[in-house]
Amino acid sequence: MAAHFALLIDPAAPDDERRDFADTFQAIDPTAPALSVGELSSQRGDGIFESIGVIDAHPQELEAHLERLAHSAALCDLPAPNRDQWRQAVAAAAAQCGTGEHVIKLILSRGVEHGPTPTAWVTASDAADFTAVRVHGVRVVTLDRGIDSTTSARAPWLLLGAKTLSYAVNMAALREAHRRGADDAIFVSSDGIVLEAPTASVIARFGDRFVTPAPGSGILHGTTQVSVFEHLATAGHETAYETIRTAELARADAAWLVSSVRLAAPVVSVDGAALAVDAQFTASLNRYLLTPRD
Ligand code: PLP
Repeated sequence: MAAHFALLIDPAAPDDERRDFADTFQAIDPTAPALSVGELSSQRGDGIFESIGVIDAHPQELEAHLERLAHSAALCDLPAPNRDQWRQAVAAAAAQCGTGEHVIKLILSRGVEHGPTPTAWVTASDAADFTAVRVHGVRVVTLDRGIDSTTSARAPWLLLGAKTLSYAVNMAALREAHRRGADDAIFVSSDGIVLEAPTASVIARFGDRFVTPAPGSGILHGTTQVSVFEHLATAGHETAYETIRTAELARADAAWLVSSVRLAAPVVSVDGAALAVDAQFTASLNRYLLTPRD
């Protein structure tokens, strides 16, 4: 969805302690050109981002998103974000979101080629309507990510745990899933371990245990997955970060793709094999995810 609000940010040093960062923000026309042609985010995808779900003008799990932004910045050798500055930018964007579901994006790019500073901006947009997919779910295919479970540790320059702007591969995986007659994909390692979806984390239920792959395996640590696990633990369910073998996934009692804006989409089939959907439980998960959360 097109942004209805955009704010350019002059990134402050992480130790800048001023109370009010308003004079580092510049509201811009979200429909007009704003970036230089020398922008390394558009030339090379060299930058990081976050997509935050907004419910009735409340940005969900803001601190977890800022934490991951800082983690991605460290992995990419970008300057550490000033958290207060980003909090204030998000508050300004959230103030432009009315009732219902919206998305706030935070973008921190390497900046303009040969330029002195990174470029940063925040946008707010209407969220797409995911009501149906939260009920009817997604057919997924597993796709080999071409890396094994040791790659992330051996080759940190692949930035596997960072939420970078380089999503061309993730989008190609979605197109491949569509070509195979599915709605979405789950990346697996070349040694047969479940990783994540191109834009979501994977949670599987085996009996009364809810499991998800550990973030150290070269995947993003999903803010929604963490929030769901907290919710499940409070309700007395067992949760664990565990290796899930690709072959085990089709034997799960249920599975979901979870992410900040689509929320919990039940997996209805894996590589053509049907998976049970617990409609009531899924609805309760989405009710939880739709309440304001910090
Ligand atoms: N993994 C990938 C690759 C993603 O792109 C996303 C979200 O876009 C997630 C996991 C889920 O993260 P979150 O729950 O913080 O939205």
